[in-house]
Amino acid sequence: MDPKVGQFMAKIKAKNPAEPEFHQAVHEVAESLIPFIEENPKYKHAKILERIAEPERVILFRVPWINDKGEVEINRGFRIEMNSAIGPYKGGLRFHPTVNLGILKFLAFEQVLKNSLTTLPMGGGKGGSDFDPKGKSDNEVMRFCQSFMTELCRHIGPNTDVPAGDIGVGGREIGFMFGQYKRIKNEFTGVLTGKGLEWGGSLIRPEATGYGAVYFAEEMLKTKGDSLKGKVAAVSGSGNVAQFTVQKLTELGGKAVTLSDSGGSIYDPDGIDAEKLAWVMNLKNIRRGRIKEYADQFGCEYFEGKRPWHVKCDVAFPSATENEISKEDAEILIKNGCGVISEGANMPSTPDAIEVYLESKILYGPGKAANAGGVAVSGLEMTQNSMRLPWSREEVDSRLQTIMKNIHQTCVDFGKESNNYVNYVNGANIGGFVKVADAMIAQGVV
Ligand code: NDP
Repeated sequence: MDPKVGQFMAKIKAKNPAEPEFHQAVHEVAESLIPFIEENPKYKHAKILERIAEPERVILFRVPWINDKGEVEINRGFRIEMNSAIGPYKGGLRFHPTVNLGILKFLAFEQVLKNSLTTLPMGGGKGGSDFDPKGKSDNEVMRFCQSFMTELCRHIGPNTDVPAGDIGVGGREIGFMFGQYKRIKNEFTGVLTGKGLEWGGSLIRPEATGYGAVYFAEEMLKTKGDSLKGKVAAVSGSGNVAQFTVQKLTELGGKAVTLSDSGGSIYDPDGIDAEKLAWVMNLKNIRRGRIKEYADQFGCEYFEGKRPWHVKCDVAFPSATENEISKEDAEILIKNGCGVISEGANMPSTPDAIEVYLESKILYGPGKAANAGGVAVSGLEMTQNSMRLPWSREEVDSRLQTIMKNIHQTCVDFGKESNNYVNYVNGANIGGFVKVADAMIAQGVV
């Protein structure tokens, strides 16, 4: 390790103990940025790297609610307002039992650079709760969301901080939170994105992260004169990002053969076509069942407790959660012929898996670039809310495609090495950093 990176990380770890995911995210960025900052001393003198690793504000609160049995339950709520140099804080809310301060700080840190890459005026934030929506009734989810928003509404607003969805937070949860915000504040504003179409949502927002990850893969392949047509893909997860990844991939002539959830993964070598995907959407979004049922329904293999990276594929779209591809998984993927990784999830690859990708010189699109389509369309939802005018599906999709192309180009501009290999990790980290850093310098020491 570069000794300067080592010194920097020692301070980060001392200051933020017991937050391994946050250390991991900052470390990856520091590896890219410290050599760049050494060549650009204005960032060093202004201590930009040290400043962006410190949240502007952290809000932590109690969320009491009453379950269907009449018992009191207590969860913990968080909002990390990480950086507002280029716009209001923006980033999702995650409801999952694993949520803690370190995980949300890692996500908020990534979000700052990701939002900058979209070229839209959005700062970075993230929030959520250790509440587990799984197995809860709609009424329980509503009571929890109302209690969560009763506190959160003091800290957010359309010009201050605009949360969206993430793991465990989809259209249902956004609806309950929006309703409570409106009731308390007595105002109808674009305070959340991912809203329903009838009440200020944008077309393509549910699709945007998955579609964007596929567009990013297509852009990477284009640099080799190739495309997704005829490619076989392993996809993990079976939630929002995974579903729309499969949809767009299929539309572009590729074939998705896997899906997963926290129970295990399915392998369907015939491909998850539009009809099977519609069945999965009903299973996951309406019946809220387990992916194992897919194997029973369509007569394919189910691997209990296993991720899908052992199957033969050309492309991988990790779309479930952080650190879901280990070094061994990365080696197996590459041995089986996988030459493209486009990350729909945030930080799904461990640091040594990333090393394997970079050493093998495969096309590797890190999450902060490849999954930026979701927040980009959230930014477009904010624009439509401000104008009080909805755009058509075609208009939003075409803007999304342009944004993904531009993000790809930024990664190439900042990440191309002397041997012409594009290191998208450096490209995304440096490309996202420059705009935020310049804005921070212009705004003084604040
Ligand atoms: P969903 O809640 O819709 O789906 C998450 C999926 O991942 C589910 O299939 C879930 O399975 C699985 N999963 C979650 N945690 C784990 C775990 N610890 N181990 C195994 N499987 C797990 O979330 P999204 O699709 O919205 O998010 C997926 C990823 O994409 C996350 O990393 C998120 O941060 C990232 N992302 C999402 C964006 C968005 O717009 N939604 C934007 C950018 C990134 P199960 O149901 O069994 O828990």
